[in-house]
Amino acid sequence: MIDAVGLHKVYRLKKRRVTALNGVDLRVEPGEIYGVVGQSGAGKSTLLRTVNLLERPDAGTVRVGGEELTSLRGAGLRTARRRIGMVHQHFALLASRTVAGNVAFPLEVAGVGRTERRARVGELLDLVGLADKARAHPSQLSGGQKQRVGIARALASRPDVLLSDEATSALDPATTDSILALLRRLRDELGLTILLITHEMDVIKRICDSAAIMEAGEFRESGRVLDLIGTPGSLLARSLFPLPDRGGPDTVVVTYPRSYDEPLMSELTRRFDVDVNILGGGVEQVAGQSVGRLIVDLRGARRGPALSYLAEHGLLVEEAGQ
Ligand code: ADP
Ligand code: MG
Repeated sequence: MIDAVGLHKVYRLKKRRVTALNGVDLRVEPGEIYGVVGQSGAGKSTLLRTVNLLERPDAGTVRVGGEELTSLRGAGLRTARRRIGMVHQHFALLASRTVAGNVAFPLEVAGVGRTERRARVGELLDLVGLADKARAHPSQLSGGQKQRVGIARALASRPDVLLSDEATSALDPATTDSILALLRRLRDELGLTILLITHEMDVIKRICDSAAIMEAGEFRESGRVLDLIGTPGSLLARSLFPLPDRGGPDTVVVTYPRSYDEPLMSELTRRFDVDVNILGGGVEQVAGQSVGRLIVDLRGARRGPALSYLAEHGLLVEEAGQ
């Protein structure tokens, strides 16, 4: 749905040149939630603004839904942009307008008639759970409610793609959860494709199917989250699941990005005559799937072959001790 190739962007300030994008390729499949995570200044917002051509790249092409946006200008570009909604960190609502008035705004700009506009605003407020707040003003809303208005407004033109720039960064954890759940539901119900940027790993863990780690204008790593979790040496996996800080020389961390029916640990002690002592573990939901993690001390003469056996069964095995 989004296909960006070879994006470069340099900002020229008085004396300095800042390379915000340094050869970024991004491909987001239809109906996917794709997260770009990175520290402040990494180039995330520039990338997002380049995807809808609010920022024109110095080099590279952007296609959305098969249409090459980089070749469009003026009215053609404005029309194409209606297929792309955008949600902002600080909501960007008009204080003088009611909730309904804010959601209606893009419809007015697009020349949608009054009757149709009313009906559409009603639908949108229902969709985000704010039907009872239509006549309230933004100052009367909580942060989470403001972001729901922002999302409803972004969906007014029935876009296929939603771009989210740190939509939850100004919200508390519980509200963040409810907004992420809303985004996921919108993807499921409307078939939206969502590209979001965030500096919070937890957002990636909770709702993203695919993700990229961005640093200094480049993608350091990208791929499907569940694939990366099973990839030895993955940066994303390490950030989502840090190694325990206290590990002995025999400690290993076993991660399995799917459920297991086989009694692998008892199999291990039987076959390889090793002692397994469980130190910790848990199961977390990642990309809508259970990912289990077990921290164990594993001792015995045939420790090496035992670890290889786990790896051969598709489990990610990492030595945790120093
Ligand atoms: P992020 O969203 O990851 O924090 P940005 O895309 O906002 O990163 O910024 C990337 C780099 O580009 C930063 O060094 C930032 O200072 C610079 N930058 C962003 N926008 C502009 C601009 N309009 N003019 C000049 N420099 C900019
Ligand atoms: Mg930013």
